[in-house]
Amino acid sequence: MLEKYRTHHLRQRLAAVELRIQKALEQAGRKDEVTLVAVGKTHPPEVLLQAYRAGIRHFGENYLQEALAKQQALAHLDITWHFIGTVQANKTRAIAARFHWVHSVDSFKIARRLSEQRPEWLPPLNVCLQVNISGEGSKSGVNPQELRALAEEVSILPRLKLRGLMAIPAPTSDFAAQRKAFRQLRALYESLIDLGLETLSMGMSGDLEAAILEGATLVRIGSALFGPRAG
Ligand SMILES: *Cc1c(COP(=O)(O)O)cnc(C)c1O
Repeated sequence: MLEKYRTHHLRQRLAAVELRIQKALEQAGRKDEVTLVAVGKTHPPEVLLQAYRAGIRHFGENYLQEALAKQQALAHLDITWHFIGTVQANKTRAIAARFHWVHSVDSFKIARRLSEQRPEWLPPLNVCLQVNISGEGSKSGVNPQELRALAEEVSILPRLKLRGLMAIPAPTSDFAAQRKAFRQLRALYESLIDLGLETLSMGMSGDLEAAILEGATLVRIGSALFGPRAG
């Protein structure tokens, strides 16, 4: 095992992340909980196994091939797998079969394929719609103006369960700007509450406090747990 992946480092980092989450919840005056999804992209299965042993049960992956290899290596464990990367149309069949959640649905075409391809012996696939809240620069995510129409269409697909919204705001270290972006997603989420949403997937290593203050119910944490990614 590489030095940077030593188990005691992982446990220390996990404790630090959990403390950050708890402090943010306290500051927000919230009594509910936040689901921690550990984002394992670029990190080998042995590292995910350490995280599992430290108590993590939710894992997020961005790249299908990489994820499938880890799922195979960790098949004996009780893991909830979240797909958080761009969903390519030619990958929907495998994603629909191998994941419990997809956070990055941003078109009806992809949603319909996932619904059609979700194996019948599995429960409906949990999905979040990815929203483009930072405008111009970023390419992924549905535009806020088109969100309601998409959400209504997705909510009636038989093999999907629409759970909530996800966004990846433009990275910034400005805390007020972080909060502003998350507040926008929160407002969109509340405007769709009639569709039964209960998951607000927002917040990463650099901005989880801002996200939790604005109501995140699920944070996706990579580098704060596993260290910096190579490349
Ligand atoms: C990589 C990634 C994360 C985690 O990012 P960190 O900054 O390493 O915590 C979260 N969400 C998505 C969609 C990602 O691609």
